[in-house]
Amino acid sequence: MEITKHKVAAIHYTLTDNQGNVLDSSSGREPLHYIQGIGNLILGMEEGLEGKKKGDKFQIKVSPERGYGLKDPAMMQKVPVTAFGGEKVQVGMKFQTNQGQVVTVTEVSADTVTVDANHELAGVELNFDVEVMEVRNATAEEISHGHVHGPGGHHH
Ligand code: ZN
Repeated sequence: MEITKHKVAAIHYTLTDNQGNVLDSSSGREPLHYIQGIGNLILGMEEGLEGKKKGDKFQIKVSPERGYGLKDPAMMQKVPVTAFGGEKVQVGMKFQTNQGQVVTVTEVSADTVTVDANHELAGVELNFDVEVMEVRNATAEEISHGHVHGPGGHHH
């Protein structure tokens, strides 16, 4: 059975950037279960997985445009240090804004802090090593919920 729209696939994957740093991996965990063709995964992953079968091992290279998008300069802004209420702010710290958005501190000066609301993988070319562990039909209920049920999925 091939991975096509509305198939559930279980995959093991390791994600690295172009410098070879491992950013994420399912190694040592349950494989990732998802439904093909409904946006569970980034577009570049769904494209690379389309037509693959159980046991297939391969690599997928995903451009930022087909991954987490390009970095949007409009989502980076300087805020006054005083907005942090005396907290010692350092590069790499994450904060949640009043709107619920997660921002990362990218620069700290004497009186301003630069925060970035882009996804941390925005602008990054992604390299996935993938192995397909299982492919099956999604149930009608899974398709209507938009996620996998049972092993590796939702239990509710
Ligand atoms: Zn459900």
